[in-house]
Amino acid sequence: MNPEIEKRRTFAIVSHPDAGKTTITEKFLWYGNVIREAGHVRAKANRSYTVSDWMKIEQQRGISVSSSVLNFPFEGCMFNLVDTPGHQDFCEDTYRALTAVDAALVLIDSVNGVEKQTIRLMNVCRMRHTPIITFINKMDLDGRHVLDLLDQIENVLHIKTAPFTLPIGVGKLLKGVYSIAENTFHTFNPDDGKQEIIQMTGPDDPRLVELCGENWVNQFKEEYEMVTGGMDPFDHERFLKGEMCPVFFGSAVNNFGVRQLLNAFAKLAPPPMVRNTDKRDVKPDEDAFSAFVFKIQANMDPKHRDRTAFLRICSGSFTRGEKVFHVRTGREIRLAAPTAFLAKDKEVIDHAWAGDIVGINDPGLFRIGDTLTDGEKMSFTGIPDFAPEHFARVTLLNPLKSKQLTKGLAELSEEGATQLYEPLKSAIPVVGVVGELQFDVLKFRLQSEYGADVQLDRVPAHGIRWVKGPEADVGKFADEYAMDCMMDKERNLVCLFPNEYRLNLAMKNFENLTFAETSQG
Ligand code: GDP
Repeated sequence: MNPEIEKRRTFAIVSHPDAGKTTITEKFLWYGNVIREAGHVRAKANRSYTVSDWMKIEQQRGISVSSSVLNFPFEGCMFNLVDTPGHQDFCEDTYRALTAVDAALVLIDSVNGVEKQTIRLMNVCRMRHTPIITFINKMDLDGRHVLDLLDQIENVLHIKTAPFTLPIGVGKLLKGVYSIAENTFHTFNPDDGKQEIIQMTGPDDPRLVELCGENWVNQFKEEYEMVTGGMDPFDHERFLKGEMCPVFFGSAVNNFGVRQLLNAFAKLAPPPMVRNTDKRDVKPDEDAFSAFVFKIQANMDPKHRDRTAFLRICSGSFTRGEKVFHVRTGREIRLAAPTAFLAKDKEVIDHAWAGDIVGINDPGLFRIGDTLTDGEKMSFTGIPDFAPEHFARVTLLNPLKSKQLTKGLAELSEEGATQLYEPLKSAIPVVGVVGELQFDVLKFRLQSEYGADVQLDRVPAHGIRWVKGPEADVGKFADEYAMDCMMDKERNLVCLFPNEYRLNLAMKNFENLTFAETSQG
C-alpha cells in the first residue's frame, strides 16, 4: 500500500454526552499540534484559541450540534477525527459520520458506565463491523468496579473486551495504570500532574507495592489474574471485524492515558479499508480517485456565508485544482480549494489521500451521498437516509424577510438534518426532522444566519411516505389525498398520513403504488 495511504487513521468518537469527548478531543489536538507546530509557539497559541473558541460557540448552544472534522498528525500517522454530536436528536448526523470512518473510539464514563446514547451508536458500529477501541474515562473519580465495567461492555455493547491496561487504586487514590502488554506502570499524580512510565518485571515487581501500597496491588493482581487467565487474549483479526475491542483506562481532563490511547490507535486501527459501490468494491490504493459526500454544512464561518461539503476519499489521491467527475450530474468539476480542518480553522491543502476527510466549497452542487470519481460511473453505497418523525409548518413572523426564509430553508435542508416539503394545497412550507431538538436549531439558525424569525407549528402525523408507482395512479392519489400531499425537494410526491387508519386505507385502495418510508426506499 502507498505509504501515504497506509499512515491514514480515520475515526470517530462514540459516547454519551458528558463522557468527556470534547476534553479528549482537545488533548488529541494538543498532541497533534505539538508535533506539527514544533518551533511555532505563536502559531500554536493562536490556533488553540480558535479551536476552543469554536467549541465555546457550540457550548453556548447547549449541545454540540454539528460534527466538525479535525486532521492532526501523530507518531508518523495522519489522523482524521470526525467529531460527532452526542445528543440523540442529532444522531442521524452521527450515523452518517460513522459511514466515513474506518474505526471508532468508544468513550465511557467510569462513574456512569455504559449509557443510552453509546448503546445506540454502538449498534450502528456493530452493523458496519467498525473496529472499536474503548477508553474508560474519569478514572480520577470513584467510579464503578473495573470488572463490572468490562462486564457491562461485553453484555450491553455486545463486544468482547481485551484490557490493555488496568488501573491500580481508584478515584482520589488512583495510583496509576499498569500496561499488561508492556509490563509498564504509568504513575498518576493529580496534584502536580507529573507522570512517569516505569518498566516493571511483571505484576509481582516489588516496586509496585512500594508505589501503590499492598492492598491496592493485591486487588490489582486479582484483576490481572482474571483478565489474563480468564479472558480471550487480544486477537487483531477479531478486532478488525468489530468483534473484540482493546480497553484502556485513564482521565482525559488530567491528560492521563491519552497518549497511550493515541499510540494504540496508530498501531492497531486499520488504514483505509475497502469500500462498496453499486458496481464493484473499491480498494484504497487504486490509482483512480474516488470519494463520497457524507456531510454538508452551511455557514461554518458566519462572515463568509459559505457552504462546505465534506468528502471521504476512498481511493487514490487528488491534487488541488484537479478535475473530478460528479457521478449524479455527469459533470466534470474542479476541486479548487480542498481544505483540511482544525475545528473552525481551515487550511487549504495541496494533496489528499484515500482515508482523508476534506472539505470543499459547495456552490450548491452537492448532496449527501454523492460520489466523485476520475470518470467511472459508480456510486458508493451504505450512506443512510432517514425518515423524519416530527413535522412543523414554518410561518414567517417578519414578512419582509421571505426571500431570506426561502434561501435559509433551502440551504439548511441540504445539510440533511431538516427535510423541506411544499404542500400541494398551501403556500406555507413544512419541515420534517428526526429529532425534535432540530426544530430549535433550525429556528435559531434561520434567525441568526438568515435574519428570518419564524414560528414552527407542529403538524401531528402518524408518518410520512414516498408515493411511487405508475404516473396515472400517482396523479389519482395526489387528487384524492391532496390535503395531506406535499412535494419533496426532488419533486417527489410524499404524503403525511395523519393516522395509521388513513395509511392502511391508502395502501388498500392503491395497490399499484408503493408507500416507502424514505426517499430511497
Ligand atoms: P462531552 O459532552 O462528552 O464532550 O464531555 P466534556 O468533554 O465536555 O466533559 C464533560 C465534563 O466532564 C466536563 O466538566 C469535563 O471537565 C469533565 N471531564 C472530562 N474528563 C474528565 C476526567 O477524566 N475526570 C473528571 N473528573 N472529569 C472529566
